[in-house]
Amino acid sequence: MTSVSAPSAAELCPDCGAPRGDLARFCEACRYDFTTGAGAGAVSASRSPSWTATVSVDHEYFAKVMARSEPEDQRLYFPTHSPDRHIPLTHVLITIGRRRSSGHTPFIDLGGASEDPGVSHEHAILIQQPDSTWSLMDKGSTNGTTVNGAEDPVVPYKPVPLTDGDLVHVGLWTTITIHRN
Ligand SMILES: [Zn+2]
Repeated sequence: MTSVSAPSAAELCPDCGAPRGDLARFCEACRYDFTTGAGAGAVSASRSPSWTATVSVDHEYFAKVMARSEPEDQRLYFPTHSPDRHIPLTHVLITIGRRRSSGHTPFIDLGGASEDPGVSHEHAILIQQPDSTWSLMDKGSTNGTTVNGAEDPVVPYKPVPLTDGDLVHVGLWTTITIHRN
């Protein structure tokens, strides 16, 4: 008989950072196996059909962010030349964030030359489900994540299902559209 020690309230999934459910074997967000330590990435790296994320500088979303921000934030300028980026989603766990000067660079990096200063270093993740659709999970980001133009941000660490064409808004002006190819 194996004795199981009670998890601390702060136990987090090492793969995606979601809080572990009550002695749950699998992470609710990414299906990490707490018993064997097998991550979602080990399940499959290439499920069909394939998906692409389009990263856009979104003026409509920027206007909404400015409308609800403090006057001192109004000096932020909108990037004038920033073409869309098309990023194939080639992993089952896609990190979204802003790179650090040293260390980890997220899969969808909103730092660097076309930095969005409203994005947290570890902002959110996309997690592919067994049926090949995606879930979005905010990782407790500073400014939150919204979906499809909603006013209210999604609840941190609670996966939200996405479908083809859904819009994920982060930072000051970034909209990420997911497409089934
Ligand atoms: Zn997880």
